[in-house]
This record gives sequence, structure tokens and C-alpha cells, in this order.
Amino acid sequence: MSGDLIRLTAAELGAAIRDGETSAVEATQSYLDRVAAVDGDIHAFLHVDADAALEQARAVDARRAEGAELGPLAGVPIAHKDVFTTRDMPTTAASRILEGWRPPYDATVTERLRAAGLVILGKTNMDEFAMGSSTENSAFGPTANPWDVSRIPGGSSGGSSAAVAAFEAPLATGTDTGGSIRQPAAVCGLVGAKPTYGGSSRYGLIAFASSLDTPGPFARNVLDAALLHEAFSGHDPRDSTSIDAPVPPVVEAARRGDVDGLRVGIVREFAGEGYQTGVLQRFTEAVEVLESLGAKVVEVSCPSFRSALAAYYLIAPSECSSNLARFDAMRYGLRSGDDGTRSAEEVMALTRAEGFGPEVKRRIILGTYALSSGYYDAYYGSAQQVRTLIKRDFDAAFEHVDVLVSPTTPTTAFPLGERVDDPMAMYLADLCTIPANLAGNAALSVPCGLAPEDGLPVGLQIMAPVLADDRTYRVGAALETALRDRWGGDLLARSPYAV
Ligand code: GLN
Repeated sequence: MSGDLIRLTAAELGAAIRDGETSAVEATQSYLDRVAAVDGDIHAFLHVDADAALEQARAVDARRAEGAELGPLAGVPIAHKDVFTTRDMPTTAASRILEGWRPPYDATVTERLRAAGLVILGKTNMDEFAMGSSTENSAFGPTANPWDVSRIPGGSSGGSSAAVAAFEAPLATGTDTGGSIRQPAAVCGLVGAKPTYGGSSRYGLIAFASSLDTPGPFARNVLDAALLHEAFSGHDPRDSTSIDAPVPPVVEAARRGDVDGLRVGIVREFAGEGYQTGVLQRFTEAVEVLESLGAKVVEVSCPSFRSALAAYYLIAPSECSSNLARFDAMRYGLRSGDDGTRSAEEVMALTRAEGFGPEVKRRIILGTYALSSGYYDAYYGSAQQVRTLIKRDFDAAFEHVDVLVSPTTPTTAFPLGERVDDPMAMYLADLCTIPANLAGNAALSVPCGLAPEDGLPVGLQIMAPVLADDRTYRVGAALETALRDRWGGDLLARSPYAV
């Protein structure tokens, strides 16, 4: 029975709980057993709280017994990225500087998961402060990709992607600042969405780059991702950049799943050198599928996208250097060298030297430099101008097409260790995802096959205008259904960790 339960989609599991065919406690226990069985190999979780999870599940079962109306995901377990504050669990952002910190409050996303009756199994591994593309920057050791445990699960939300791909949870949360949901989803064969910036709340999300950070869902299929998206999104008065507008109808779009009359633009700039042959091959085939379903496909040029990576690596570090100033050895977590002989400044310097990993330090130094007087205009200022050009490219493109598509990542999952000492190579993993963050658009990654040369998953990215998130789900669902027919089932069924 427990194998059967973890095989169900989140939508099916929620329905089975509502219909009384199974209980939230049974579902939660099945997933806890799975975590106990495989997380030694995968290391998706930094913290699992079986007792707290079972207690949340019992509360859902009790509400059902009282005759309460349960939502679509009530009783469904979820893995939660360790960048969201949780009042009953440690929150570290995978950094030594926050080791052991227990937040006094829940993030809005956490609060809404609880309100929807989702059962939080634990907190997932990530790159420290969400800086990275492989989860190797975690202070607590890397996570493995369930498709090949010698490879990266993507990052920064790699614990979340690995947990879902290894069937340790049907759903997970992530955050996407430059690609950290879409890229891990792509390399793990999952669906991952970056909502419109401001469409999901940043309150209680430990800040990396505030003008880019966006919470979003991971799931094994498009409908499940839409259900989770809907569950935690929407206006939040506690986040000043939250958009006061209804959540786009993503669930309806995922159920509809068609491309009738839709104009699809292929971004010309995202191909060529640096792209793995098998990635381009699967991408091209998927576009042909969309065309066969009735989409009108055209090529579109977005020339400024070529400068997106460079602009991002000035803007994101600049914001991070300011956001991470709060880790001052006084307010949270670690404090080093406070033996009564040292000044506050010395303790702060010692704590930050010991508490931050090399990538975080690199970003703080880069950002501080880019913001310093005399350099501000040349670096940060120019990067902001490029950001405007990227927005204009999107606007111009969306006058002619409804969505833009590209490969999600230039390559499939690379081997653990391969890029960890080569920041530039690591940064290239987000080449195709960064423009949507800089412009604030909605984007989603959906699996489009396995690369012939290594048998690893390839993702296709669908980008839509601000607040048109539903379009990405509509196209994603259409493609998913067509490809499932072609493959004779889910792509994930071919993973060594499939159940
Ligand atoms: N890999 C990118 C970076 O390191 C994006 C990270 C993210 O989206 N959180 O900054």
C-alpha cells in the first residue's frame, strides 16, 4: 500500500484522502518510510521531523472526521526549502552562520502551506543562501541527483528537486532568483515554476536578492505544480513588493492543457555554442510536438538576453551584499570569538569569516565593489540599464507571440565536483533562466525527454508576460500530455529511483 500511495500524483493523493480511501497519517507515514529508506543516498533533507509531520497529518484527519471541507492538497506531504522560516523547525539557508537558529515566526509561504493542510515533512538542502546551481555550496554537504547519484540535482533548490524526483515527497517548495527552481526541475525531470515576481510572497523568505527572489512549486506533473502554486501564492500585505491582484488561473489552465491558436516564439539567442547536442535535439522535437498540436511557432530575437548573465552577476551580488549585512553575530545563530577580550567589530569579522562559505563571500565582495562610490554607475548602474533593455525585449516579443520557449538549461546534470571550483562554468547553468528573473516574468520548466548521449532529463522552458502565469501551465500541460502518449507514461518512471 505504501508504494502505491507514493506513486499517486499529489492531486490523486489529496482526492483519496478527501474520499476516505486513505488517511493523511497513512500518506505521511508512507513518505516518511521512503525518506528513511533512500535519503541516506540522496541527502535531500537537512531536517526531518517525523513526529511533527504525523501530528499535522492527524489534525487533517481529525478535521475530515468532523466533516470539514478539505482543500485539494489537504493531507498531502511536502518538502520545504530551508530558506523559508518555520517556527517549529530550524531554518539555516544551508549556512553555518544560521546553524541551529529557530525562527520565531512562519514565512507567509509556510503559513499558507499549513492553512492548505499540506504536511511539512522537513526542510530541504540548498546552496548556501540560494547562491549556486548545484547544491554543492551547502555548508552541510551536497545532494545527489536521483537519476545518477554521481551528478548534481541542480541548485539552489537541489534538495527540493531531489526529494520529489526520488519520491521522498510528491511536492516541494523552492525559490528562484536566477533559475533555482527551473534549473533543478529540468535536470531532475520535474515540473518547476517561477511565478511572476510579486505573485508569491517573500515575507519570511531569507533574502538573497530582493528584486529577484520568487517562491515557486516543484512537482512531478503540471497539474500538481499548479495546485501548489495556487495554494501559496497571492497578495500578502506583509511583502511590500507583493502584487495586489488575483492569482492567475493556473489550475484551470493546467486542466485545460491546449495550445489552440497560441503563438509560440523560439528565442533565437538560446542555442549554439555551449549547448549540449541532445538538449537542443529534445528541445527541437518538443517544439515540433507543440506545432503538431496546433501552435503557431515563430523565431524571435531578444538580443539583450545575451547580456543577462553579466547584468545578473552584478545585480544579484549587489543586493546580496546589502541583505547579508544583517548576519552580524549579534542577532542570529553563530557567534565566534566572543571571549570578552574582543570588540564587537572583531567578533563580527570572525563570525562572518567562519560562518559564510566561499561562494557567499565571493558574492559579498563582488556586490560591495559594484556598489562602491566611483564604481556604482559603471557596474550597478549599467547592469540596471541592461535590465531595462531585457524588459523591452520581452515586451516587444510579447507583441507578436503569447509565450516564449527555450531549453531550460544548456546541458543536462553535470558531475558533482566538476564546476565547484569554476564559478563561471557554474554560472552558465542559468543562462536561459535569468532573463525572466530580471524582467519579473512568469516561467515554467517541463520535462521534454532524455538526452541521447547521457540518458539524463532535459527541460523545456516556457516564459509568459507578467501575471500570465496560466499560459505557461496551459502550454506545459499540453506538451506533457502529448509527450506522455509518445513515451507511454511518465518520464520519471524511467529513473532508477522510480517506485
Ligand atoms: N544559480 C544562480 C545563482 O547562483 C541562481 C540562484 C537562484 O535562483 N537562487 O545566483
